[in-house]
Amino acid sequence: MVASTYLIALGSNRPGKAGPPRAQLAAALTRIGGVVAASRIRDTPPVGPSIRRFANMAALVKSDASPPEMLRRLKQIEREFGRRRGQRWGARSLDLDIILWSGGTWASPGLIVPHPAFRERDFVIGPASEIAADWRDPISTLSLRQLHARLTRPRPALRCVPLGAGP
Ligand code: AMP
Repeated sequence: MVASTYLIALGSNRPGKAGPPRAQLAAALTRIGGVVAASRIRDTPPVGPSIRRFANMAALVKSDASPPEMLRRLKQIEREFGRRRGQRWGARSLDLDIILWSGGTWASPGLIVPHPAFRERDFVIGPASEIAADWRDPISTLSLRQLHARLTRPRPALRCVPLGAGP
């Protein structure tokens, strides 16, 4: 079977088996295997109730695995590196997500590719656009470069029109 390419997002904000968050990401990358490109590791503010900052990165991985097989592997690696189900929301010794797949879209129970939330997450789009700027999201048809520009572009101030000022 011809190998697929996956764009994988890695994150950690708790120490685990390999050590502090940055060491967790570096070790997980080796464990995943088939890595053909990796972004630098970024230090990003937490999203949600956690107060611990995250280490985040993205990697391009070549693999013969189908998307569900890849997800199973990633979940296994999360467990090996100390992720426990029921770990307090926001506390993650290792989080591995499938963001994009060269085969396009996938939807089955427990797995949606492209990852449904990735377009709004700077901590995913930033590292991802560093290593695969021209990869197009099959849903929006925008490239990672364009998605990144959309997220980082300054937004125009809201224009307020006084009530009753209309025609
Ligand atoms: P997480 O909070 O990242 O551990 O994700 C929780 C669940 O999201 C996983 O157990 C998966 O079943 C599900 N999921 C759905 N789509 C994806 C995806 N593209 N990558 C990773 N997990 C996914």
